[in-house]
Amino acid sequence: MTSNGQARRRLLISYAHPDDESFGLGGLIAKYVEEGVEVFLICATNGDVGTIKPEHMRGLATIPEVRLAELAEAAAILKFKKVYLLRYKDSGMMGSPTSQDPESLWARYHSDPEEVIRRVTEVIREVRPQVVITFNKYGGYGHPDHIAIQRATTEAFKRAADPTYHTDQRPYQPQKLYYSNIPKLMIQIGIWMMRLRGQDPRRVGVNRDIDIQAILDNIEPSHTRVNIRQYYPQWDAASAVHISQGGGGGFRLFPKSWRKWISPHQSFTRIYPKPTRDQIDEHDMFHQVSLDELIEETV
Ligand SMILES: [Zn+2]
Repeated sequence: MTSNGQARRRLLISYAHPDDESFGLGGLIAKYVEEGVEVFLICATNGDVGTIKPEHMRGLATIPEVRLAELAEAAAILKFKKVYLLRYKDSGMMGSPTSQDPESLWARYHSDPEEVIRRVTEVIREVRPQVVITFNKYGGYGHPDHIAIQRATTEAFKRAADPTYHTDQRPYQPQKLYYSNIPKLMIQIGIWMMRLRGQDPRRVGVNRDIDIQAILDNIEPSHTRVNIRQYYPQWDAASAVHISQGGGGGFRLFPKSWRKWISPHQSFTRIYPKPTRDQIDEHDMFHQVSLDELIEETV
């Protein structure tokens, strides 16, 4: 309970890299914060992989320092209540040499999944969010770190309430688990435009390692669609501070001004509680969430 006796709505986003939160969910975070929800973030890696132009180094010595400084700035814009850094190394894309680094999230999840699951469980038990969001099973666009944190978070969601699973925090059961989705129409239009331009949708991005067709093939059904049209300014502002990663203005499937119309929503697959049918049945992630803290603690 808060000091005024009102139970708080709390949302935990469990993502992999400094920039995933802004590029992926900037509009949604801005909306919920404005509505009084406390929003927390797990950022599992330091975003070590890749090169950064000298003008974006901010006088800092290493890439992780730059990425985390950008995250701190984005966190101030988006007004996270708290950011939890798990500080694994960025694995880079599937099959890259960095994904073999034993300290990378992807490699660590394979050698010791229990450790990653435990750390996410600890955060869930500390934050006590009613709602948890992570990536879909394809990690959005196939990034190994996204897939690792998706698996760890899904498992931690189940373990958090288990009284026989011991951490320093009390057991706690969040009420809803979502996977973030990518609007199908946006991807379909993007593929169509790439074909028109003679580009290969299976080899996209600076390193040609993003497969837009596979993103489409791995889109899961949406059950929740939240309108974020009026939050594009905050979304863009938070994305812009991740300037070393293009500031959200890098690769685009279509002109920026179209987004508001093609994609005025952020969509999610509801994993728990499982929907009876694959259709949109809610427009708010806190729909039917109980704010009675006493009830939550005994679930
Ligand atoms: Zn990422």
